[in-house]
Amino acid sequence: MESSVNNQQQNAKEMGSSDFKVGILGGGQLGKMLALAASNWDLKTAILDSSKDFPAGAVANEFVEGNFKDYDDVYNFGQKVDVLTIEIEHVNTEALLRLEQEGKIVHPSPKALDIIKDKGLQKTFYKEQNIPSAPFALYKDKMAVLHAIESGKLSYPFVQKSRTAGYDGPGVAVIKGADYLSKLLPGACMIEDLVDIDKEIAVVVARNADGEVKTYPSVEMEFNPEANLVEFLFCPAQLTEAQDETCQALAKKTIEAYNVCGLLAVELFLTKDGQIWVNEVAPRTHNSGHHTIDACQTSQFEQQIRAILNLPLGSTEMHQAAVMVNLLGAPGFTGPVKFQGWKEVVAIEGAHFHIYGKAVTKPFRKMGHATVVDKDLEKAKTKARQILQEFKIIS
Ligand code: ADP
Repeated sequence: MESSVNNQQQNAKEMGSSDFKVGILGGGQLGKMLALAASNWDLKTAILDSSKDFPAGAVANEFVEGNFKDYDDVYNFGQKVDVLTIEIEHVNTEALLRLEQEGKIVHPSPKALDIIKDKGLQKTFYKEQNIPSAPFALYKDKMAVLHAIESGKLSYPFVQKSRTAGYDGPGVAVIKGADYLSKLLPGACMIEDLVDIDKEIAVVVARNADGEVKTYPSVEMEFNPEANLVEFLFCPAQLTEAQDETCQALAKKTIEAYNVCGLLAVELFLTKDGQIWVNEVAPRTHNSGHHTIDACQTSQFEQQIRAILNLPLGSTEMHQAAVMVNLLGAPGFTGPVKFQGWKEVVAIEGAHFHIYGKAVTKPFRKMGHATVVDKDLEKAKTKARQILQEFKIIS
């Protein structure tokens, strides 16, 4: 039913007519790469975000300065486009809901966004849908958490996650014992068991309105053992066949449960005792899908366009193994961007650079990413480490 309505609406102004316009909420790097993919098909893009100086400003056909969290800004922007999508989930969903009720094609659905934006609702949803995830409980504030500890209902260690902090501040606190209580976050929260993680995996999955679903190969995070920070992502993940099948099947089950058209990046934990749990999802393109630009038949950005326009999904097959590194602002530098070591790293065979075009660098700010493709995953990892050592973004 829903898909036939969408088809009718889409036929009103077909893709391929010169004024067909895809609206994107958010003008950061994901919006930029999405607009670039749209431009390959000569699809016009309009982007809503607070400044045209953001990465997508340089490539969108139209950039509307406004706030994607504001009802009127989103509603008015939505009127001007044929299909509306996102590059960030923290948008005004009331306006999206009204646009949808008025017949606008909006993907992903505002209903799914409302669940995903709230980590408490997200976890409750997994429980209801029988999607395995770490045990959890919801608390209305810090006091309620402290009371639960005092009364013995909650014991250490645990992980506290802000229900709605999103990108605005620290959203996760690991509370290993009473000494860590000063780290407790304010506001409504979700408390989860501290998981004994063996591996962190992500699967990007796409779905269109006809119900076609395709997953990308599973991606694994490689941690730097000294810093305990993600050093890079690599694909294919080093999993047993059975583990991989479970990750892929969970990603499919999750996008179907949400009834999302577009993309869903599904983050998973493999526990040391052999469980596979969904950690959280993002209903859009994702860091764990960046390598698809250079390593797969169809990039995640083109796939989002295909999915929201209800076109056949593209092949997700990989040509070669891939390693993706984020290119972060070097510590100690804030200001206009300068590259150090650029000539050396662009000489590396199989390395592909994507510089987002942010005007100012700050310590650890995501300024770009590089993907190294190679038939041999270990060689790609070595080259990725070389990039991290030799290339610096300074000011
Ligand atoms: P964010 O929205 O900030 O990305 P995540 O839920 O992905 O929050 O958590 C960030 C990281 O914290 C994860 O990648 C993982 O390394 C760690 N983490 C999150 N939840 C748990 C948990 N329940 N147990 C152990 N580690 C966790």
